Amino acid sequence: MGETHQRRFGWKDMSPFLKGSRLILAIGLVLGLVDAAAQACVPLFFRYALNLVQVNPGAFVERGMVNMLLVGTAILVVFLPAAYYFHVLTMIGFMRFCRNLQVQLYRHVLRMSVDFFQRYQVGEINARLNNDVEAVANGAGFVMSLVWAPALLVYSLVMMLWIDIPLTLICTAMLVGIALLTVLAMPKLKEWNRDVRDASGEVSAVVTEYVGIFGLLKAYSREDFAAMRVETKSDALLLQREKVARWQHAFTDSMQTLTRFVAPLIILFIGAYWITKGRLLAGDLAAFWGYWLQLSAVVQGLVFTFSGMMSSVAAMDRLCAFFAEQPLVKDPEIPLPLDGCRGGIELRDVHFRYPLAESEEGPVLRGLNLKIQPGENLALVGPSGAGKSTLLTLILRFHDPDSGAVLLDGQDLRAFSQKELHAEMGIVLQESLFFSGTIGDNMRLARPDADDAAIWAALEAANAAEFVRELPRGLDSVLGERGAKLSGGQKQRLAIARLFLKDPKIVMFDEPTSALDADSEAHVKEAMKRLFKDRTSITVAHRLSTVKDADRIIVMDKGAIIAEGRHAELRINCPLYAEFCARQAGV
Ligand code: ADP
Repeated sequence: MGETHQRRFGWKDMSPFLKGSRLILAIGLVLGLVDAAAQACVPLFFRYALNLVQVNPGAFVERGMVNMLLVGTAILVVFLPAAYYFHVLTMIGFMRFCRNLQVQLYRHVLRMSVDFFQRYQVGEINARLNNDVEAVANGAGFVMSLVWAPALLVYSLVMMLWIDIPLTLICTAMLVGIALLTVLAMPKLKEWNRDVRDASGEVSAVVTEYVGIFGLLKAYSREDFAAMRVETKSDALLLQREKVARWQHAFTDSMQTLTRFVAPLIILFIGAYWITKGRLLAGDLAAFWGYWLQLSAVVQGLVFTFSGMMSSVAAMDRLCAFFAEQPLVKDPEIPLPLDGCRGGIELRDVHFRYPLAESEEGPVLRGLNLKIQPGENLALVGPSGAGKSTLLTLILRFHDPDSGAVLLDGQDLRAFSQKELHAEMGIVLQESLFFSGTIGDNMRLARPDADDAAIWAALEAANAAEFVRELPRGLDSVLGERGAKLSGGQKQRLAIARLFLKDPKIVMFDEPTSALDADSEAHVKEAMKRLFKDRTSITVAHRLSTVKDADRIIVMDKGAIIAEGRHAELRINCPLYAEFCARQAGV
């Protein structure tokens, strides 16, 4: 053991996702500096004009107006394109980053092993892939402010210092106070925004779960139960959101009062007094006033940016945590080639416990030893919870044993790549799964290049050709939520046809007929029998009629093998098996 499902993954590990957007972002952000510089020039016009009017009104009419017109036009010509490309390029760069983020995140999820899907609910994975990526995308605006606003802040301060140093220092002291308050409030705002995201993920998980079991809720008329669960989670989310709304605004509104009301009055009183003393001209005070307006807008913008950015930052952190997840089942660095697989399987003293199981739960498999010959037709029976399905998942290498080994043709499964391994294996579960698409598409999941003739041959072999032919659109009939409705037996036969098309060396069945009536079972059994030819097969079945003809039957109980043999022998030698037979009339 000792394997962990987490690795280190920080923001900088996301830098490869910037591929294709680095240059665009760099140009965009540099233009942000030009945009800010152009804006910082505006109060200078007031200074120039008002000072000239106060000192020499004639010169203003003669030269000043023309000068202002020329310089103003020049600034406009620079400002407009700079602002446009600053916004557009930064947005495009960011959107490309988010696109890569989403695609890579999905690929990452696909690389996970089964344990990951036990740690995370479907709704939660959904929330990461959609809501969090969107929250990061919203960060584009914040990144723009983070470039533009500090640049304008610096330009404005330089200009102010040039006009009057003491007044600038007073303004700076007020700004520092505002900045400090912001820094103090930031961690709490970040934490609460994270709580909102967590609560929102939980709502999404519960909604997804209950939509999935809609039939069950209807059957028990317990829609109210589902509604209550969703309501409870939704209330918890509302509570978090209300808290964030209250505190975020308490903070931002106090800042506004400070910058738009208190500070301007201070500047006006001091500045006006200094004009009477001849220390400043009216134009200087006007320019100062303009710069304060700009500065306070910038500081407020930054405050909004920081508080709003917290949700993007929290989303990035959560995405990092998701990227840090790694599968417990990994491929070896140099996998052994799996040519000419014969399909012999061996379990050697296998002990296993599910990764997330509570420690007081005992191991699911306890020192299992089993050798299955290539081409053997094996059956697994035993009470539910004995560990039969778990054994299949270990052969599929969905999990690795805690100790001992599972071998294929004498080699540990861990020596092969999972891809090659899975190419040699196929499984049919109690309820077979199909995605929404045509029957043909679903069949080609097993072999993408299969032509119609190959698909029909597989359908024939699985006793499925007849009912597919009867569907109005044949192979083009759509399956899935709004598609053709197939019976349980038809679905199982289609799943078997898919295995014929895949043609693996080892096939496994986990309770393939448990949900079927006797007639459907007969059809499915016939198809299974044909599939077993020249392949190793392992069938877990509750119904002894499905497995009694197997070459060998293994009886499992409490994670161990308690007997093995053929049907007739076990009826006599194994009391547990005899009890099964007695309970199932006609076997
Ligand atoms: P069987 O197929 O014989 O009915 P299983 O292999 O499904 O038995 O289950 C064996 C034991 O493992 C049971 O006690 C079950 O509760 C436990 N188990 C099955 N799946 C999981 C899982 N994903 N996580 C934790 N425990 C599990």
